[in-house]
Amino acid sequence: MSTTLSPAPKSANEVDVKHTECFIDGKWVPAASGKTFATLNPATEQEIAQIAEGDAADVDAAAKAARHAFDAGDWPKMDARDRGRLLYKLADRMEQEIHALAALETLDNGKPLNDSLAADLPLAIDAIRYYAGYADKLHGSTIPIRGNYLCYTRREPIGVAGQIIPWNFPLLMLAWKWGPALAAGCTVVMKPAEQTPLTCLRMAQLAKEVGFPDGVINIVPGFGPTAGAACVKHPLIDKIAFTGEHRTAQIITRDSAETLKRLTFELGGKSPNVVFADADMDAAVEGAYIGLFLNQGQCCCAGSRVFVEKSCHDEFVEKLTALTMKRKVGDPFAEDTQQGPQVDKAQFDKIMSYIDKGKGEGAECVTGGDRVGDTGYFIAPTIFDNVQDDMSIATDEIFGPVMSVLTFDDKEDMIRRANNTFYGLAAAVWTRDISNAHDFAARVRAGTIWVNCYDVFDAAAPFGGFKMSGYGRELGEEGLKPYTESKTVTVKL
Ligand code: ADP
Repeated sequence: MSTTLSPAPKSANEVDVKHTECFIDGKWVPAASGKTFATLNPATEQEIAQIAEGDAADVDAAAKAARHAFDAGDWPKMDARDRGRLLYKLADRMEQEIHALAALETLDNGKPLNDSLAADLPLAIDAIRYYAGYADKLHGSTIPIRGNYLCYTRREPIGVAGQIIPWNFPLLMLAWKWGPALAAGCTVVMKPAEQTPLTCLRMAQLAKEVGFPDGVINIVPGFGPTAGAACVKHPLIDKIAFTGEHRTAQIITRDSAETLKRLTFELGGKSPNVVFADADMDAAVEGAYIGLFLNQGQCCCAGSRVFVEKSCHDEFVEKLTALTMKRKVGDPFAEDTQQGPQVDKAQFDKIMSYIDKGKGEGAECVTGGDRVGDTGYFIAPTIFDNVQDDMSIATDEIFGPVMSVLTFDDKEDMIRRANNTFYGLAAAVWTRDISNAHDFAARVRAGTIWVNCYDVFDAAAPFGGFKMSGYGRELGEEGLKPYTESKTVTVKL
């Protein structure tokens, strides 16, 4: 592999957008309607580019191409090692393009370039490589059954996977979905979020360049109720993998009833992050800070309910506030920026309305609470103290840099309160008491529990939600299962 890396852009002006059309059957094509929509730079509110606005007609073309590549093409039948080899090549190509991809992500989403380079890209590359290694390791089992028979199972690709992704980690969500789908031998129709289509489109070009056959990967940019819903309803698409809001998942569930699609959902959260007085206080402060403010607070697993044991509350809040006040908000391309803008005006307005609600409901805003500047969707990192369980800032997913600090002095009561939400995506506990940590891990109903850490992700570790935070798991071996069907073969001997 060549080690030549793409140049590192230093500002939004240096980023090369390249692809803006639908990618269907290996070709770049405008939307059938001819319509386009603008994708904006959230730091400047300026248009970056006009993007093809795909809808039902384009999804139909993409679904037919993906179906043909699955039913008549080599992809699901090819030597699984060759499929794996292509995924490895794609990961290598992403590595070569790491600066260009990171800059494109930052331009479209607003996240600091340092974060795109240090987190989004390495994690995405890792996920593709992890699943590359799985392509030739999917197998069934032999089963002893009554009578003189040979009975075995085969794990076969599920078919055409419709994949609908959000805007908070566009490239990473793509990797979490392409990796297992392609390793399993599925073909893909992906709809990126309307706010952030650019890295997804660039990835289609990289996949083409490394040799993915036509029709295996198809991209239809556009809006949820049109392009997204068309994927969900299309009879040639076998499965939908969706990451986004639980309300959208409810619509998808209804829309998929007619075709009885297989569904996997990774949805929202209101994750409890619990600090006991015996914890390493500096580590807990740092963990609460990262656990909430990472990615401008736009993480489904954000630790947005921070429960602090009463006896350490004052020390904790004082240290956390001091750290948060130093957080540098600004141009996502600047070297020292730690927090960029929120992704768009709708999110900005929603977050500001929750800040107003928090103030109105009587929580104490100890830092932040305001917009930063007058251009771009920047919000100061905000901490509310003395939050009560029934305040809307403690019950609703805000998806922004707004933390709620709640106090507890009884562990049993805290666990009841931590579980008192319809979400169940993640939780964390900070304590030096190992029994306490494992007890918490067993009793809090969430798909991921972090002990003395937060936001630790790995391609090998399954991720997903209990309750209304989703169904199915992504990553790890569990992440492959939803892309396969199990077939039982019985042979009379
Ligand atoms: P958010 O509010 O964070 O944007 P959404 O759930 O609305 O979360 O969006 C996540 C993804 O789901 C986006 O790609 C969006 O276009 C898509 N989407 C939104 N509505 C629908 C829908 N009715 N059917 C299918 N996809 C949808």
